[in-house]
Amino acid sequence: MSYVDEVIAQVVEKNPAEPEFHQAVKEVLESLRPVVEQNEELYRREAILERIVNPERQIKFRVPWVDDKGQVQVNTGYRVQFNSAIGPYKGGLRLHPSVNLGIIKFLGFEQIFKNSLTGLPIGGGKGGSDFDPKGKSDREVMAFCQSFMTELYKYIGADTDVPAGDIGTGAREIGYMFGQYKRIKGVYEGVLTGKGLSYGGSLARTEATGYGLLYFVAEMLKTNGKDLKGKTVAVSGAGNVAIYAIQKAQQLGAKPVTCSDSTGWIYDPEGIDVALLKEVKEVKRARLSEYAAARKSAEYHEKKDSNDHGVWNIKCDVALPCATQNELNLDDAKALVANGCFAVAEGANMPTTPDATEYLQKNGILFAPGKASNAGGVATSALEMSQNSERLSWTFEEVDGKLKGIMENIFHNLDDAAKRYGHEGDYVVGANIAGFEKVVNAMLAQGVC
Ligand code: NDP
Repeated sequence: MSYVDEVIAQVVEKNPAEPEFHQAVKEVLESLRPVVEQNEELYRREAILERIVNPERQIKFRVPWVDDKGQVQVNTGYRVQFNSAIGPYKGGLRLHPSVNLGIIKFLGFEQIFKNSLTGLPIGGGKGGSDFDPKGKSDREVMAFCQSFMTELYKYIGADTDVPAGDIGTGAREIGYMFGQYKRIKGVYEGVLTGKGLSYGGSLARTEATGYGLLYFVAEMLKTNGKDLKGKTVAVSGAGNVAIYAIQKAQQLGAKPVTCSDSTGWIYDPEGIDVALLKEVKEVKRARLSEYAAARKSAEYHEKKDSNDHGVWNIKCDVALPCATQNELNLDDAKALVANGCFAVAEGANMPTTPDATEYLQKNGILFAPGKASNAGGVATSALEMSQNSERLSWTFEEVDGKLKGIMENIFHNLDDAAKRYGHEGDYVVGANIAGFEKVVNAMLAQGVC
């Protein structure tokens, strides 16, 4: 059995009931075969793969809080500190009922390579809770966030572990958590990113993941002799990533025509009205049916079941899955290819199932894996850490300019890595190899730890 296969088998055996984690490990390790085979003796002796698939630390804790009726509720909190070889742990906090240890481990594992790809000094981590902020009052969200931080504060800090937002954790939740950390620790430090502008946040952080995705796509298309101008774009999701991906796509001359949330999706052939979308999702926190009610050109489609990913049946040139994991499956990939789509770039983490990715790549679609194409969020978080350290705030243009440069660099790093190992154009292989090499070199230099 090859070293890669041995370690994959160990991960499956030792981490039962964590299918998303298995999926992420398989996807990464499979694509690292060319590097592992070249260095097998060294990596085996140093147990590099065993170390990289085992988190340095995983913390699971009780989060009790009182709801508006006076009833005590109990959620579970997690923080997985996966790898600190190249910097303090960095990665978001997901608040969603589907959260469990396996989901957080898959996200933390991916984060190691993503953070490495940014070229910035940040290690990989992830956290969250099965708490659902949807339908809760502000006071209930605050009660949860304060309780969550009352435990989490013991394990994080500006130089050790710096969490950020993710699904369900936006500016409101980060604000409550930051306030509680400051209150308990008595220290005003950049312990979280995604903060409000008046207390250490960075301009352009809100826009960063969506904008970064489009900077990456523009560079990928340019390198392949294509262009975004005049192209039709299908987007899924209607959250932070999707909204700013749609906005930047428009700024770059493309026409995004779809978006979705967990209950339905919109097809708007005239192009998505970003101001209206923001009003519905960011201000009112309402369903997308309200978008359709306010806009004549839009069609609203109620989601039939969890396998209904309607947006991928719309004819488009470029597809940007920006909602959640495993939301673009093999049937969706077939529909995209049949409709003439030529590029798919992941805004969400692992939104494309492995068989769909394989199908897209086999059919000549330019495919950008999320750990590269959505790295703009964490890169800008790292820029927020830099600004906090020097107690300065950079302008929007300064941060946005750095973000663009970082995304273009990421693309060329992984393009080069893919070429070096004879996989030209395979950006999945390129991203994993480029991210892995830097982390492994740092691990080897730091000895057995
Ligand atoms: P948000 O919570 O802001 O938005 C998620 C959006 O996706 C919501 O509109 C949600 O709908 C929708 N959604 C969730 N599940 C489904 C589904 N099954 N089908 C259709 N729509 C669905 O999260 P973000 O935009 O921040 O994150 C989206 C993805 O991007 C996640 O995978 C996240 O890990 C990843 N990511 C985020 C980064 C960031 O900076 N925010 C950075 C890098 C990656 P509803 O409104 O109904 O909840």
